[in-house]
Amino acid sequence: MTNQPSSNHTNNGCVFCKIIADELPSQKLYQDQSITAFRDINPVATTHILVVPNKHIPSTNELAAEDEQLVGRLFTIARQLAEEEGIEESGYRLIINTGPDAGQEVFHLHLHLIGGRRMGHLP
Ligand code: AMP
Ligand code: ZN
Repeated sequence: MTNQPSSNHTNNGCVFCKIIADELPSQKLYQDQSITAFRDINPVATTHILVVPNKHIPSTNELAAEDEQLVGRLFTIARQLAEEEGIEESGYRLIINTGPDAGQEVFHLHLHLIGGRRMGHLP
């Protein structure tokens, strides 16, 4: 990718930090200095993309006031990708799982962009 992140706050052993740093393969769709987006390895719909901050933030619980702009940017990039995937009209779901009850598996904050099929209502 052309826009490599400027700084690497990599967290040892974090799968998403390794993907961001190109130390693990992924289907990257977008990368700039603060955000990276790549296809989920185990997609639950035609479009299943993960939008992540390049900075290692384990979960929503660790967000600080200084991250507000970064969180807004996650949504802006998700919207752009929804458009590129052609699902902005058919619809899509944006999900952030936090902690055990939500089934969070990877402790590097990520926004799921899921679309391309009709989904049931919330659990
Ligand atoms: P969550 O349950 O919200 O923590 O979601 C973690 C997501 O990361 C799951 O949907 C996994 O399929 C996905 N995932 C785990 N490892 C990888 C990987 N190496 N590349 C792409 N997606 C991954
Ligand atoms: Zn990480």
